[in-house]
Amino acid sequence: MSYYPLTSIPDYYGIDALLTEEHKLIRQSVRDWVESFVMPQIDHAAQNHTDLPGLMKELGKIGALGPYIPVEYGGSGLDQISYGLIMQELERGDSAVRSAASVQSSLVMFPINEFGSEEQKRKYLPQLASGEMIGSFGLTEPNHGSDPGSMETYFKDMGDHYLLNGAKMWITNSPLCDIAVVWAKNEEGKIQGLIVERGMEGFTTPETHNKWSLRASKTGELVFNDVKVPKENLLPGVTGLKGPLSCLNSARYGISWGVIGAAIDCYCTAVQYSKERRQFGNPIGSYQLQQKKLAEFLTEITKAQLLCLQLGNLKNDHKASPAQISMAKRNNVKMAIDIARESRQILGGMGIMGEFPMMRHAANLESVITYEGTHDVHLLITGMDITGINAF
Ligand SMILES: Cc1cc2nc3c(=O)[nH]c(=O)nc-3n(C[C@H](O)[C@H](O)[C@H](O)COP(=O)(O)OP(=O)(O)OC[C@H]3O[C@@H](n4cnc5c(N)ncnc54)[C@H](O)[C@@H]3O)c2cc1C
Repeated sequence: MSYYPLTSIPDYYGIDALLTEEHKLIRQSVRDWVESFVMPQIDHAAQNHTDLPGLMKELGKIGALGPYIPVEYGGSGLDQISYGLIMQELERGDSAVRSAASVQSSLVMFPINEFGSEEQKRKYLPQLASGEMIGSFGLTEPNHGSDPGSMETYFKDMGDHYLLNGAKMWITNSPLCDIAVVWAKNEEGKIQGLIVERGMEGFTTPETHNKWSLRASKTGELVFNDVKVPKENLLPGVTGLKGPLSCLNSARYGISWGVIGAAIDCYCTAVQYSKERRQFGNPIGSYQLQQKKLAEFLTEITKAQLLCLQLGNLKNDHKASPAQISMAKRNNVKMAIDIARESRQILGGMGIMGEFPMMRHAANLESVITYEGTHDVHLLITGMDITGINAF
């Protein structure tokens, strides 16, 4: 259970009035699920570096996997603001839970829905939506992170199948995945997407251990050693870097919303604690230094909420540019990590304990500020959008 009453979750600028009844209902149902499923076990899972058992099927049950995927393929056909609100509530629980839903929705279901054949959509999307099948997304490689266009993983046309070789690193859910959407170069050096299935000979998914961040999420490698991939597993609808980048746009949009949830969890915990904890005869919340922190947290959360709401409107109208999404991802993740770090101080020594969420959120957000484009990379994208000059 959360340490603060859920009725204290901030809506300082009356943003709820801009949401539909359906948006609020969806948010409430995910909020309730996070309280009952995530909150009671998340500290234990993070401390013990294990995932939450049955998480993907639970996410499937509440409609958090592929919320905007059409109903005919098992999705919920919801709009982008609903997707954002779901991500916000999940990340109030933990970034690992939001990451699981983000990867499955935006990095696995999205490319299959956008670029897949009709057979691929019917074969994979319903099972991914229910969480019976777990997907991963392979773009990053040991030698190429911020610069995925230089990837080395490649495939050759062998007549009746493709032969895939290479390795991907830092892959969310790789040790658990049933399928991986893998981006690799064809013989002309052009990037294409392949659906690789667990069980294909030469395909392994070793786990990456000893993380200090996203400890309730499994991360690993995807290794391809002469993997024979059937020709029908090539995504036919896209060639070039725009394939993976369009997936990242969708995921980065979800992250912009998600991290508001982590910030809200830290903010609400700090407000509650500052009213209860007394030093020098008064609640610490009565001191100006602590009030300054709380006031700045709420200001930053409110700005981030407004940024996301308008970005969601643009996205619903198919008008959100990649640079606009970069700005929101960069701003909101920094906002959340700053609030996690500062709010921890309001709790003094108690702030380092697992009973309170700040250390876990702060550690998680170190990954979030790095993956899906680092903080620096998003700044370069904004700089390029302003000047027209590529500074990469
Ligand atoms: C927990 C976790 C989960 C992840 N999940 C996935 C996943 O599911 N699938 C996937 O494909 N990837 C995933 N990633 C990988 C992630 O996207 C990469 O880590 C990220 O893109 C950065 O790549 P890198 O780690 O190789 O850092 P690098 O690219 O080596 O960057 C190192 C530093 O150099 C800076 N830098 C790079 N280029 C420039 C430049 N031109 N100018 C100035 N500074 C620069 C960066 O900002 C960064 O600070 C995950 C990562 C983590 C940590």
